[in-house]
Order: sequence, then structure tokens, then C-alpha cells
Amino acid sequence: MKSVAKKTIFNIKPYIPGKPIAEVKRELGLKEVIKLASNENPYPPSPKILKAISKAAKEVNRYPDGDCFYLRSALAKRLKVNPRQLIFSNGSDELIIMAARAFVDKGDEVIIAKPSFLIYEIASKIEGAKIKNIPLKDFSYDLDAMKKAVTKRTKIIFLGNPDNPSGTYLKQKDMEKFLRGLRKDILVFFDEAYHEYVDEGDYVDSLGLLQANKNVIVTRTFSKMYGLAGLRIGYGIASLELIDILNRIREPFNVNSIAQAAALACLNEKAYFRGIAKKVRDQREFLYKSFDKLGLEFKKSCTNFILINVKSDANLVSQELLKKGVIVRNMSSWGMKDFIRVSIGTQKENRKLIKVLGEIL
Ligand SMILES: *Cc1c(COP(=O)(O)O)cnc(C)c1O
Repeated sequence: MKSVAKKTIFNIKPYIPGKPIAEVKRELGLKEVIKLASNENPYPPSPKILKAISKAAKEVNRYPDGDCFYLRSALAKRLKVNPRQLIFSNGSDELIIMAARAFVDKGDEVIIAKPSFLIYEIASKIEGAKIKNIPLKDFSYDLDAMKKAVTKRTKIIFLGNPDNPSGTYLKQKDMEKFLRGLRKDILVFFDEAYHEYVDEGDYVDSLGLLQANKNVIVTRTFSKMYGLAGLRIGYGIASLELIDILNRIREPFNVNSIAQAAALACLNEKAYFRGIAKKVRDQREFLYKSFDKLGLEFKKSCTNFILINVKSDANLVSQELLKKGVIVRNMSSWGMKDFIRVSIGTQKENRKLIKVLGEIL
């Protein structure tokens, strides 16, 4: 079958996700395992959200609302945008795939930071894109170099803001400068999966950029702060023209009914998520102090994960952590051989991470 499959897909290294907790327990015979590998929210949904989920479960014999009507109305109101400027997706990953599918022809170019979120590259390679990787500069996007990399074949520029795995963010004034003079027929894909965690005052007001830049899409997700990673729901905000293009290739029932109900319930739980944001901020400070004590270097993050230089083989360190029941992300496959990435867990989980890291190093 290999000879008849699309040639482009053999350039792709399959994505290796963080191992599920149950798998590690099963394989290593461990009773207690914690996962700090996929930037999930460590807390379960609130009782109100759980109630919305069980209510929606009673109607799963029906197809979901393909238009996400109630969620669309509530979110449009919250974001102060036209409801038709929204598109919903099976996790925001799906919008990355849809964007590449809609815009990239074989031989076109896309611009991606290196390292960055791996799905940008996978989605683009499926369509036969030529990838222009622009190295980070001191763990941040080198916007000047990214702009210089534009050619007449450039179709998409992917910007993770905040970026994963670096945890750094783009500033309003730098983004305005970047967009000034950039060709308006290049899709600027603004991935804001960690938007809800950012407190910094000079963070890009991406929705404010949409009016003047019809070529920009902003994507967000219910997987990270909102804790619905297992239900798969994200969304994009863009001009009506751009949304119309993406809707043409959207699978009609791409967002399941339980995810829609849970996401809607999340929007009414502001206080609950404010509480979680505070816990994450406090735990981030605890981890910074603990890494300092262990003599580890790290990049300050505006998200719920931290990139750490363990100053030894990251493969080995993550294997040893795994044996002790702590799943972290080994950054070797991103080409960062001395780095691991850890998600900020509960206080108990973070204490265990620090204890085990201390034993290993
Ligand atoms: C987690 C993540 C996403 C998307 O997650 P979904 O669960 O598909 O919504 C997108 N971009 C980045 C940078 C992420 O880290």
C-alpha cells in the first residue's frame, strides 16, 4: 500500500503524545502515577460542568448541533464579535489541519518557529508544504527573521502565542510591526491555546487586530485552562471571508454534543477558573524557587508549563522520572537534548516532581 499512499506523508514523523497515566501504571506496575506531560488542567471540571455533561449524555443518540448554536451565541457575546466570525472544532488542533488543507498546495511554503508546536509542521507536510523553520532567539520568536523568510510562495505563518514549548509570548507593539507591510494574502495563524493564563499587560490584543487584518485567524481551546482536553473542543475567530473558507472543508458534525454542553457551562464558571488561575500562578512560583534550589535553568513562562534545562540527557532524566511514576515531556524529539517540559500540576504533584527530580539529579 505504501507505493499508492500520498508521497508527502512519508516526510512526517508521527506525533508522540504524552503517555496516558493508565498505560504507565500498566506497563511499569506502579500504583501512583502523575502526568505533567501534556499541559492539562490537573483539576476536574466543577460540579456544574459535570452536571451539564451528564444532562447532555442523555441525548447522545442524536447527532450534535452542527452549528453549535447556543455555544456560538454565548461566546460571541463574551468576545463581542459577530457569531458568524466563530468556527468550532474538534480541539483547536483540527483548525490547524483545516487551515493547511484549505490554503496549502504542494510546493507552497509555511513559516514555523523552531522548536514550536509539532502539529503546525505535520498539518503542513500532509499538504506537501515546504517548511521554513526559523530558530527561536533567546526562547522567543524572531519576528524579523520570520518576516524576512516570506517569499511569493508563502501561504501560512504559524505563531503560537504563548508558544509551546518555550512558554514565552508576543507583545502588542511587535505584532503590530510584524503585520505592517506583510502581504494580506498570507494566512497569519495565531494559536492562543494558553491565552487564558496570560497576565502580562503588553500581551497581544489579537481580537483587536482582526478588523484591520482579514488574513488573521485566532484560535483558542477548552482543553487547557478550561480542563476539557478529553472532550476535544476548540474554536477560531476570524473575518467572515476566512471563516467561510474554513467552513467549506469542516466536517458537518465535528464537535460532539457533550463537548458543546460542557464548553457552554465553562463560560458560566468564571469564579471557578479564576481560582484555578491563581493556583497555577502560585505553583509556578513554587516550582521556580524549587528549580533554583536544584540548580536547574528554566525559562519564565506565562503559561501552565515550564521548559527546563536539566543539564544532562533529557532522554535519561525523563526515563528515570517515569520509573518513579512522574510523566514529563522529553524535549529530545524537538531537538532539545538537555530539556524537559513539565506542566504545572496540583501542589501535591509538584512536590512529588521536585522530590523525585532531586533524587535523580
Ligand atoms: C494544546 C495545544 C493546542 C491544542 O489543543 P486542542 O486540545 O487540540 O485544542 C494547540 N496549540 C498549542 C500550542 C497547544 O499546546
